[in-house]
Amino acid sequence: MTNRTAPSTLDLIGNTPLVLLRGPSEAAGCEIWGKCEFANPGASVKDRAALWIVRDAEERGLLQPGGTIVEGTAGNTGIGLALVANARGYRTIIVMPETQSREKMDTLRALGAELVLVPAAPFSNPGHFVHTSRRLADETEGAVWANQFDNTANRKAHIEGTAPELWEQLEGRIDGFTCAAGTGGTLAGVGMGLKAFDPRVTIALTDPHGAALYNYFAHGELRAEGNSVAEGIGQGRITANLEGAPIDTQFRISDEEGIEWVARLLQEEGLCLGLSSGINVAGAVALGRQLGKGSRIATILCDTGFRYLSSLYNPDWLRAKGLPVFPWLAREGA
Ligand code: PMP
Repeated sequence: MTNRTAPSTLDLIGNTPLVLLRGPSEAAGCEIWGKCEFANPGASVKDRAALWIVRDAEERGLLQPGGTIVEGTAGNTGIGLALVANARGYRTIIVMPETQSREKMDTLRALGAELVLVPAAPFSNPGHFVHTSRRLADETEGAVWANQFDNTANRKAHIEGTAPELWEQLEGRIDGFTCAAGTGGTLAGVGMGLKAFDPRVTIALTDPHGAALYNYFAHGELRAEGNSVAEGIGQGRITANLEGAPIDTQFRISDEEGIEWVARLLQEEGLCLGLSSGINVAGAVALGRQLGKGSRIATILCDTGFRYLSSLYNPDWLRAKGLPVFPWLAREGA
């Protein structure tokens, strides 16, 4: 990788490295590449959406110096927004379900965001974190609602950033791309961006259990089955960011499969990742097997595992959720 300098923190967002994942490549019999989004300043893929959303609001004259950004988020978008807001002189109010990781809450507070925790609720409930954030934005003078789910500045970050980066890093030879969807900005944006370079690139949805998109793309019906503890992914509706997403095929991946890849990538390749990354890698292996030997697949390594030390990397938490405990954590005698 080349050395780089940047004129500002915001210029450190994007241009993330791409790493060849040895174990997944061997398992699929093809090349599986992981885009290292944990290398962004806020340690997740959501820094990109945060930057594009803030820039877009500035360009449209919605944000004035000293203004406020309000958002409902599973955490990572809030962290990205708080960083961008600090760098541009805005205040941030973040509404988050209280079920999200402790580390994300602590990080948001450390960054100076005002944190509003709400009980987890279905989207149809007015108390849902997204609706609460919209109301707070309406009630706050000089505030902008980032609205990551339905603000397509989110997916534009991936059409203009992630997709061209992947195309260049893989020197114009990429057979397939897959990832899971939270807002759908990454999946739709990278999908659209790559199809613009080469319409033959296969774009696949990797859906966790408990999400409705697998059935939507497979059978035209928004229906969820099962459950997942993965944070930041699992969508039950077609957000504006997902509208027109060029999805060719889809896979449904269990938490157990995702956790197995998280464990293998950590032990065998020294990568410490969150569960959505493990689920993405499992999806990439499934896509690689479908596209066949010699194909070249890319996926997203969404965020760092350091964000989940009290959950995914905690044997008590895993046991309480009925999930397998990593053998080296079980050894600690917990
Ligand atoms: N993984 C994690 C850990 C996330 O926080 C998010 C964002 N919600 C995603 C994946 C999915 O990204 P997107 O919103 O672009 O679908």
